[in-house]
Amino acid sequence: MDGSAGRGSNSGRNVLPRYKLGKILGIGAFGKVKLAVHTLTGVKVAIKILDRHSIDNFEAEKVRREINIMRQLSHPHIVRLFEVIETPSNVYVVMEYMNSGELFYYLTENGKLNEDEARHFFQQIISGVEYCHRHLVVHRDIKPENLLLDSKHNVKIADFGFGDIMRDGHFLKTSCGSPNYAAPELICRKLYAGPEVDVWSCGIVLYALLCGRLPFDDDNIPGLYAKIKSGVYPVAQHLSISARDLMTKILVVDPMKRITIPEIRRHPWFQNHLPLYIASPSPVSSNKTEKVDIDVVKDMVQAGFDIREIIGSLQNHEQNEAMVTYSILLHSRSPGHVSEHDENSDNLEYMDHGPTYLQSLSDGQNNWTLGFKSQASPRETMSGVLNVFRSLNVKWKRIGHYNMKCLWLPPPSRYSISTTEIPIRSSDAVKFEVQLYKASAEFYVLDLQQLSGPPFLFLDLCAAFRALVV
Ligand code: ATP
Repeated sequence: MDGSAGRGSNSGRNVLPRYKLGKILGIGAFGKVKLAVHTLTGVKVAIKILDRHSIDNFEAEKVRREINIMRQLSHPHIVRLFEVIETPSNVYVVMEYMNSGELFYYLTENGKLNEDEARHFFQQIISGVEYCHRHLVVHRDIKPENLLLDSKHNVKIADFGFGDIMRDGHFLKTSCGSPNYAAPELICRKLYAGPEVDVWSCGIVLYALLCGRLPFDDDNIPGLYAKIKSGVYPVAQHLSISARDLMTKILVVDPMKRITIPEIRRHPWFQNHLPLYIASPSPVSSNKTEKVDIDVVKDMVQAGFDIREIIGSLQNHEQNEAMVTYSILLHSRSPGHVSEHDENSDNLEYMDHGPTYLQSLSDGQNNWTLGFKSQASPRETMSGVLNVFRSLNVKWKRIGHYNMKCLWLPPPSRYSISTTEIPIRSSDAVKFEVQLYKASAEFYVLDLQQLSGPPFLFLDLCAAFRALVV
């Protein structure tokens, strides 16, 4: 079907046909940020509106850099960029909506936080900053004004306008960010690698969270800089020894002696009540694998998208309506995902639907793989899988006890997932391999890996398989 049918068009006066604009959320240096609703999914987003005519070249470069950096990042504690719409007069940056404002206002209203609450925010900030560094991005302006809150009390890093990409052997020199949060080497205009200046700013944020004020402050900039360079700040006597210890290891003037993010992670204060999903940092994502949420794909098909358009867009990383809708839908389900990881990980059922994954094996090849975690014994799991295969009319040949080659020729009725009637051909046969392997002491993972056949039919089979596995 035509992916745009019934979903608005780019013609006409409305430059944002897919969004309904609402109230102003805030005004930044370059323009307004407005609340909007993505009409197809009903998901609220924040749209930064930049007027091309009112920004100079330097500012335009800052905006471009922010967009380029945000495009690369996808993390539960970093504000997500969905799309950028450009017109001759404006640039519209569509982002995840953070409905509880800045951490700055939260601190202003609540004053100093207790150590548990401060740690909760700090762990999330460090996990987001660590993710940036692993993707060679240094933020350089970490401060409570750039840390936004959602309704679930989660904090996300925003505003990458001062961000930069780190390169091997290349030191940065630009002085960035807000003076109160700037590291001594930044204000001395010394060369720096990058991560250490974010660590310093995180230390200032931690102090602000725990003490309700800044460690270095003065009425004038020279006075402030002198204090930062001295590294002497009021010791917070009300804090635990462990909190004070961490702070003194972060706010070290010599960047070579300053604690690093891996060391912060290992510090006992940080380790306390550390959520599971933060305890194991996500691996650096590779362009070669793209995980796909099969439920989101199914919902999009129901909303009228062609499954081939969705899969094609995801495989080719296209910036089109299907891809944007997919990202928005996926993301709208992710606030739960932050806590779900924690709450459910000790409580998985026989065939747990939560950790299903579907991923493209490599760019350029239309091969996909579907996985399930299972706590049942390997024999029970395999016999359950074979029962489901029988009911789906899948034929198989055993290669080993837990490994089979399979063939599925979809009956005409299975085409119901696609809205277009397509005649069945022998080339539509889907060949795939099944392998059960041990992932940990408690879990087995069942992999269904496509060998040949149309990818959208393999997805169709995966959806049917997933629906039947109990
Ligand atoms: P800059 O230095 O780029 O001007 P800024 O933080 O002052 O940074 P914007 O990033 O344009 O300006 O944001 C302006 C205000 O809009 C912020 O202070 C914030 O309160 C609000 N805002 C920005 N992004 C979002 C978002 N994703 N969700 C909710 N509110 C947001």
